[in-house]
Amino acid sequence: MLRQASSALRTARIPLLGLPSGSAHPRINPRASHLNLQLASRWVSTRTPRQLSNSKPPSQLSEALHPRRAFATTPSRPARNTYNRFNSSHSARPSIFHTLLSRSKPHHFVLIGLGISGIYLYNTEVVEMTGRRRFNCVSHEAELKMGMQSYREVLAQSQGRILPDNHPVAQMVNRVLQRLIPQAPIEGADWRVHVILDDENANAFVLPGGKVFVYTGILPICQDEDGLAAVLGHEIAHVVARHPAERMSNSFLTLGTVFLISLLFDVSGQLSSMLVNLMWSLPNSRTQEAEADNIGLMMMAKACFNPEGAVKLWHRMQQQEKSAPPQFMSTHPSSYNREEAIRGWLEKAETIYADNGCMPSFKKAYQTQSSYGW
Ligand SMILES: [Zn+2]
Repeated sequence: MLRQASSALRTARIPLLGLPSGSAHPRINPRASHLNLQLASRWVSTRTPRQLSNSKPPSQLSEALHPRRAFATTPSRPARNTYNRFNSSHSARPSIFHTLLSRSKPHHFVLIGLGISGIYLYNTEVVEMTGRRRFNCVSHEAELKMGMQSYREVLAQSQGRILPDNHPVAQMVNRVLQRLIPQAPIEGADWRVHVILDDENANAFVLPGGKVFVYTGILPICQDEDGLAAVLGHEIAHVVARHPAERMSNSFLTLGTVFLISLLFDVSGQLSSMLVNLMWSLPNSRTQEAEADNIGLMMMAKACFNPEGAVKLWHRMQQQEKSAPPQFMSTHPSSYNREEAIRGWLEKAETIYADNGCMPSFKKAYQTQSSYGW
């Protein structure tokens, strides 16, 4: 092999140090071998691929072409101008997290991954009314407590604008709610409705625990009790399906991930706070909206409200959205074709409506007021 290499080098007419040109059995001077190999490298780079394939380079030649050899023989540079934040005056010692990270082994990450997966699987549950599987780590008790806290805050903010219980509008809203409540199985709920006089605010929401708020601004869009039942049914469905707890659980997952990333990669704390704000201002997800539409529609049909009223309501809501977007739509986005989806469920809802004996004459007995005339 060595002979082949030197023969190839001579054929290339490259002068070699320490290699007698006329020698039949050339000897390579060990001290000059490094330079010889460099020259051999130059020779190889000038050959065509065909020439290279015909001439099999010896193992030494292969090594010479390998980058590792060049780096291995290069004297190491002094470590100057290298950034090491642990040596900065602000942080004399590495943090415990960076110490843990530097000492971690691949199997540690596997164990952490298995642990997180276990926690995730342990906290997954099925939404009873739709069969959807989701992550939820917030207990029902915690959800009720937070609902009660929000209830006190909204009451304080709405002081002086809440219609009395004997007001005709408050009575009508309460009447619709009372028909929907039997269809909303929420353990520990204490149902109560408050109508807030605010014609500029087209909004309504239900808190975990059963506290309902309706702003008078949404009543013209509802038009009649079927329309109001569609709005309240949708809102109650969010609570029945425990969407607030699900959103909170997803926030925990996101925040936990952001927290870990911040620690591991030393990302500025501003990123975390920015994401926290973003999480709280996010609207319901498309999945939750579709689920609330579905559950709400079936609930209103069981309560003998005409399910077609839901299609009409969402049509009016979308029309309104084009001119003056209702506040309600900011947290209930129509990111999918809502009307079309509801029409797809209408047959099932009408079957429920008929099976419950909700004949027109029976329905009229409930509907004492068909329009508010706002
Ligand atoms: Zn919604």
